[in-house]
Amino acid sequence: MTTTHVLLSAADIPERWYNIVPDLPRPLPPALHPRTLEPLSPADLAGLLPQGVIEQEFSEERWIEIPDRVRELYGIWRPSPLHRATRLEKALDTPAHIWFKYEGVSPAGSHKPNTAIAQAYYAAQDGVRRLTSETGAGQWGSALSFAGSLFGLEVTVYMVRSSYQQKPYRRVLMETWGARVHASPSELTPAGRAVVAAHPDSPGSIGIAISEAVQDALSRDDTRFALGSISHNVLLHQSVIGLEAKKQLEIAGEYPDVVVGCVGGGSGYAGLSYPFLHDTLTGARTGTRFVAVEPEACPSLTRGSYAYDYPDTASLSPVLPMYTLGHGFVPAPIHAGGLRHHGSSPTMCALVEQGYVTARAVSQRDVFGAAVRFARTEGFVMAPESAHGVRGAIDEALAAKEAGEARTILVHVSGHGNFDMAAYDSYLAGTLADYEPEQADIDRALADLPQAKLPR
Ligand SMILES: *Cc1c(COP(=O)(O)O)cnc(C)c1O
Repeated sequence: MTTTHVLLSAADIPERWYNIVPDLPRPLPPALHPRTLEPLSPADLAGLLPQGVIEQEFSEERWIEIPDRVRELYGIWRPSPLHRATRLEKALDTPAHIWFKYEGVSPAGSHKPNTAIAQAYYAAQDGVRRLTSETGAGQWGSALSFAGSLFGLEVTVYMVRSSYQQKPYRRVLMETWGARVHASPSELTPAGRAVVAAHPDSPGSIGIAISEAVQDALSRDDTRFALGSISHNVLLHQSVIGLEAKKQLEIAGEYPDVVVGCVGGGSGYAGLSYPFLHDTLTGARTGTRFVAVEPEACPSLTRGSYAYDYPDTASLSPVLPMYTLGHGFVPAPIHAGGLRHHGSSPTMCALVEQGYVTARAVSQRDVFGAAVRFARTEGFVMAPESAHGVRGAIDEALAAKEAGEARTILVHVSGHGNFDMAAYDSYLAGTLADYEPEQADIDRALADLPQAKLPR
């Protein structure tokens, strides 16, 4: 019998997170203070983020020890399984081996609890009793609500009003873990009240919700803010995905020729790929390819500019060096809400810019075609975000067939799709819309970047 999945035991949960920053071929340009545009210092984040998180955000250490308590809580569902998609391989008639690392087994249904638990741990270390954050479709908010419940922290989530109204089940999930969920804009913060006063019917946005969560956290000593993607500490925490996958592939006697995954802020794909990129960057391995897949509707890596920009629409967060479509760019309302971001994490963008990671953009119809094909061969019904990576993996498997090579493909399946049936419904009914932004809209948003030049 062919091995079709590799399981590890609790003792195999990594003991250290991997930080790629010291391995980058060129030093990363610093993050800048949102108002002064001077290099950001740890003191600028004091009171907003937990102290342990701030230290990691500026760390140059390659390996950072995972606290025992965090490892123990990872053990609720980790190590996550590595599967081989043999039935999909057969359907594609490819000599390639397609392995997928499945993060949909976490209680919140995605990879996001890997960082939510770490951030809640450091908040508890600070002695605070509340955490705030924003959420769009609700994946990050549910991961943080779950994590908060483990540490007895009160979690307050500002949920974009349109999602709050259209996607009640994620709200109920958050409330089940004890979180308080407010439709944003709300009457609870100065930022929310200002928007409500000007636009009583505002559907809200991630930018407004971030502003509310940040103002809430800064207004109280007993509260910290938590981030779902993009920042170094989040990518660091996600490295457990790739560290486990490396061990699992070793057991299967394989090493990937190509590592593929979907990229929004880039945290999940970084989590899977960076432990393998470590081998490439240190020269331990050559010839591995890395492919980041994004939606054509929000093509930051393939059509954006490499520049300094705000990661949030409200221009409140530190300015980051990244591929960006401009912080004012409004992506079309695709179902893969986790990939609707105008920028991506600085290390991922630097690796794309320097040619270590190849970015590609795919259409929504192709993405759902891949998701349904996967469901009908492998059984798993994945999140629309994850299906972008699987679309990329299928294309790699077809290229291997063309070349007649038994390549090993490793793909990140970041979450399950159990809350995304409306999206599948529209694909199956043939009403799923595809979007590609006009160049003029991207150019307009790019005309409004902060006045800070990247060192070249
Ligand atoms: C949030 C999310 C993503 C996108 O975020 P990254 O930081 O790019 O990983 C992808 N898949 C799922 C299931 C998510 O919840």
